[in-house]
Amino acid sequence: MTPTPIHGFTSAEIVERARALLPRGHGFARRIHRQVMLEGRYEPKGFGLGPEACAAWAAAFSFELPEVVRVQSDEGDQGQTSKVVLRLRDGLEVESVCIPMGRGRHTLCVSSQVGCKMGCTFCETGRMGLLRHLTTDEIIAQVLVARHRLRWPIRNIVFMGMGEALDNANNVIHALRVLNDEAGLAIGQERLTVCTVGHVEGIRLLAAQGLKRLNLSISLNAADDSLRSAIMPINRRTDLAELQETLASYRPRRNFALGVNYCLLPGINDTQADARAVAEFCKPLGRVLLNLIPYNPGTRPLTRAPQDHEVDRFITWLRAEGLPVRERVTKGRSVMAACGQLGNPEARRRRQRV
Ligand code: SF4
Repeated sequence: MTPTPIHGFTSAEIVERARALLPRGHGFARRIHRQVMLEGRYEPKGFGLGPEACAAWAAAFSFELPEVVRVQSDEGDQGQTSKVVLRLRDGLEVESVCIPMGRGRHTLCVSSQVGCKMGCTFCETGRMGLLRHLTTDEIIAQVLVARHRLRWPIRNIVFMGMGEALDNANNVIHALRVLNDEAGLAIGQERLTVCTVGHVEGIRLLAAQGLKRLNLSISLNAADDSLRSAIMPINRRTDLAELQETLASYRPRRNFALGVNYCLLPGINDTQADARAVAEFCKPLGRVLLNLIPYNPGTRPLTRAPQDHEVDRFITWLRAEGLPVRERVTKGRSVMAACGQLGNPEARRRRQRV
């Protein structure tokens, strides 16, 4: 029997499994799981268990975090943005990014897949194709490495790293439960955000989970079908009308505000007509907050980064249409840690050589 990664489950799930698998020592399951989650250590012996019970725990449950391959940091006005590259059990690598949010708060941007099959043209990860989904424990491991190995003061978690989170919906939803587990990491739902390019089946599945305070954001980037289909292939499968309808029915709570992310691509989606189309798209969605993200050119840029006056102009147009807008200050560009830049070019090169 292969040991189960203990950090891929909620406390209640581990208690249940321990009861089923362990003749002795299962009464410590809750405390052992808590030690793993809150201290990043798995030491059943420390709870006074005898050698036999410890051996049974080791045979039933494992705790291994991925190797830290490298950490790169970029100093910005609001603090340091850091990207960590982690090597998984099978040698594949994923990236997570610690982003300063001001007042000493940090958000960890986690990956849900190695690569991604969605093929968004402005994104480095899309170039890798999908290598595989991450398991629940591999998702949680990113948080545990950030907290316990790197000592990053993480407050919020966003599923906005490598991969389309809802293309791996079952593992991501399970990971949300593990993160939110009161007996473990206890990260409130209001501090968790799932970001999607518009995976409608995944959005419906998420809606059925009853996670009332969870945040959802959508990566829109164009509100015209032909333009969106050209830069985001998912739009050829699910057009804007279907996406809009799905989002309009996603109302987990009365004061829910949908995050709408818009990556500003100069010469592609930055006209006043584009701004108007975005406002039209958002009208039936209830409360929204538009996050404007200036494009970060990657290794094969689609266009250049927008200039400040172009960003300001687009924000003015959006606000004139009545949309609340927040500009996402670009962070981590020099270490390829900014939005759309995660893609591990080295891993991609290795893959191309295979
Ligand atoms: S933007 Fe997100 S969904 Fe699109 S290719 Fe990149 S990782 Fe995948």
